[in-house]
Amino acid sequence: MASVNESFLNLENDYLFSTILAKTNEYKKKYPEKKVISLGVGDVSLPLVPTVIDAMHKAVDEMSKKDTFRGYGIVQGYDFLIEKIIEVEYERRGVNLNKNEVFIASGTKGDLAGIIELLSIDNKVAVMDPVYPAYRDTNIMMGRNDIIYLNATEENNFIPSIPNEHVDIIYLCSPNNPTGTVLNRDQLKQWVEYAKKNKAIILYDSVYEIFITDENIPHSIYEIEGAKEVAIEFRSYSKLAGFTGVRGSFTVVPKELKAFTHDNVAIDLNTLWRRRQSTKYGAAPYIMQRGAEAVYTEQGQNQIKENIKYYQENAKYMKTELEKIGFVVYGGTNSPYLWVKTPNGMKSWDFFDKLLNEIAVVGTPGVGFGKCGEGFFRLTAFSSKENTVEAVSRIVKLFT
Ligand SMILES: *Cc1c(COP(=O)(O)O)cnc(C)c1O
Repeated sequence: MASVNESFLNLENDYLFSTILAKTNEYKKKYPEKKVISLGVGDVSLPLVPTVIDAMHKAVDEMSKKDTFRGYGIVQGYDFLIEKIIEVEYERRGVNLNKNEVFIASGTKGDLAGIIELLSIDNKVAVMDPVYPAYRDTNIMMGRNDIIYLNATEENNFIPSIPNEHVDIIYLCSPNNPTGTVLNRDQLKQWVEYAKKNKAIILYDSVYEIFITDENIPHSIYEIEGAKEVAIEFRSYSKLAGFTGVRGSFTVVPKELKAFTHDNVAIDLNTLWRRRQSTKYGAAPYIMQRGAEAVYTEQGQNQIKENIKYYQENAKYMKTELEKIGFVVYGGTNSPYLWVKTPNGMKSWDFFDKLLNEIAVVGTPGVGFGKCGEGFFRLTAFSSKENTVEAVSRIVKLFT
């Protein structure tokens, strides 16, 4: 008899997005003539930029010729891309990395799930509440049931303070999904200090760093002195360059970063991650990596920044118009996410139902990201400008 890994049974049902979808579909069936606008999903809407497309076309052609065909790639990723990442993403911000510290992969999601395999199940893990669900669920799948939740509330500006208790692994997401808030230099410094003191590890998810506009906000945790000893950084081309369907990302595992055996022997996680990747992951696609390389050309940079600007303008427009009618709106400036306080203390799901049923606008109930999200609602700037304007005008009409 094959027995199941019961950890999977400890997961809550994928209640949030499946419920949103079910409710939306039911509405569409009932009112087929209504145009439903979604500001709910965290997926981009603009196509890949021309420079990336050209680079990928060229890479496809290379695959068609005997002389330039490429088979299995290098597990770590190709040097041509790693070198560009180090130069453009890090050196320009005063961070030096070695090529063996950057690992290319097919999306951050997979690496977030993989990285915790390197760390003992005995570790105390802390996540924020509300939280990007994958942090929590990958830990539950590993069999960890005592996750510590740090409350991110209006009172603390959605930035929980350093925990009083000891934790070994901390997930930080900045700019944050779902709250749209960012960690500043001082706050990051405090976490790095905490991690050093506690020999803890920070898993730093900064897949939305391209949305940072405020000059004082760090783009990488390695801008903080000493962070290489305690932090793994996750970056993705998904939100940066619209690769949600192409799949491309990179993870930085610094050589200085150590975890400890029960006898207090320091182990280099970079080596373990390489070993893990070479066993479980077959290297990222060559064609994707050529596309990602093109992001770092001057043209590529200009083109992706145009796209980001488009989303930023959506965010700014939504924030401005909603604030005009008295909504309290967080996020939306260094982030594609708006974290909207529901009016009159409405429950997240009641607000969802109201928007869907009365004006055919779909967003994401904050409570779906954790109990502290109750009374909030997440809107994304990833829709088209036309749909954003239309959705906002419907909301304005409904609440004035
Ligand atoms: C979208 C998202 C990711 C996943 O990115 P992929 O590279 O597409 O797997 C990771 N973290 C957060 C917070 C995200 O919103």
